[in-house]
Amino acid sequence: MVTFTLSCQYCHSQNIVRNGLARNGKQRYLCHNCGRRSRENPGSNAYPEERREEILRAYEERSSLRGLTRTFGVSRNTVTKWIKKRQHNCPR
Ligand SMILES: [Zn+2]
Repeated sequence: MVTFTLSCQYCHSQNIVRNGLARNGKQRYLCHNCGRRSRENPGSNAYPEERREEILRAYEERSSLRGLTRTFGVSRNTVTKWIKKRQHNCPR
């Protein structure tokens, strides 16, 4: 059995408190030790690979970021990041 202990992602102190929700619904934490804010599961792996592919395909078909963010409930920043990454991986 794995016990998950919350700790600050910067200083690894466990002296943290809940500090509301981020815009994507993730729990945010405030560290009393270093005063920085942490998020649950930081990084871009919040969406599984297939989901990301699906969203990127939809973007290529419709080219409407606003529609996408509404349909899939992802943040525009996230999608933009994926698009940039993909363009970087597959140069013209
Ligand atoms: Zn800290």
